[in-house]
Amino acid sequence: MAQIISGKVISAAVKDRIKAEVQELKQKGITPGLAVIIVGNDPASEVYVASKERACAELSMYSEKYALPEQTTEEDLLKLVNELNNRDEIHGILCQLPLPKHINEKTILDAISPLKDVDAFHPQNVGKIMIGDYDFLPCTPAGIMEMLKYSYIDPSGKHCVVIGRSNIVGKPMAMLMLHANATVTICHSKTTNLKEITKQADILVAAVGRANFVTADMVKPGAVVIDVGMNRPNGKLCGDVNFSEVEPIASAITPVPGGVGPMTISMLMQNTLAAARLKLK
Ligand code: NAP
Repeated sequence: MAQIISGKVISAAVKDRIKAEVQELKQKGITPGLAVIIVGNDPASEVYVASKERACAELSMYSEKYALPEQTTEEDLLKLVNELNNRDEIHGILCQLPLPKHINEKTILDAISPLKDVDAFHPQNVGKIMIGDYDFLPCTPAGIMEMLKYSYIDPSGKHCVVIGRSNIVGKPMAMLMLHANATVTICHSKTTNLKEITKQADILVAAVGRANFVTADMVKPGAVVIDVGMNRPNGKLCGDVNFSEVEPIASAITPVPGGVGPMTISMLMQNTLAAARLKLK
């Protein structure tokens, strides 16, 4: 039986810490403020944005939501981002992805001030993460590192295999594991001997976006398995790991739901707090 690494339990502990730190900052006259922009009516995006707003309220942070119509122009969205960049009470700006096809995501993400880039997607912040000198870490990989820390799992000297090389999850995940002294292998859709590689993993991170992709025959007995996937094949949320097959052979595993997902939101709150703290410097 594997240890279940509960994102629900760990994120509650992280939020308690952040809540106390928000109160301390408020006493210095600063209330962390987050602006969340959503364009169009993507149902999954609406759920994510609502949970981010709820988390702000729970932690007594200030938040503003901008729900813009699908036909919003790139120019109008850039104008809003620039206004928010210049507002003192807004410390973090998040533009929920995906954006409608007529808007260039890169143009918008690059326009967000690197000092308010709480998703850590701006090229300047990506570069800072590479050299290990950063203000913000991308929320999902940072949440995974926090889960390992709370579970007393030290990546140092371990072989970490990451399946997936997206800019949002796979690549920064590999970098954070490297910073934590793991030996890292990144796999992707062109990897020819995937099973051979994943079977060598002491820590296996699945960020593929395919339901039940990781099966028991891909996992070394005793491995730590982190499931980033959020898939809804039949409307029901499930991860990238076939949990019922893999759980009996893993030493520790994250469930879906209740695993990495809640951690991502807590890390967004942590980044908003960190952005507000930059005002003290
Ligand atoms: P993505 O941009 O679609 O990247 C998926 C990666 O998986 C790509 O690098 C792709 O390789 C690789 N891949 C696809 N098929 C493969 C195969 N057969 N063998 C090996 N690798 C394969 O997705 P993402 O944004 O990283 O997200 C991944 C999953 O995590 C999704 O389910 C997403 O919903 C979820 N997610 C969850 C959270 C959370 O908070 N829990 C946050 C973000 C994302 P190529 O590069 O070669 O195409």
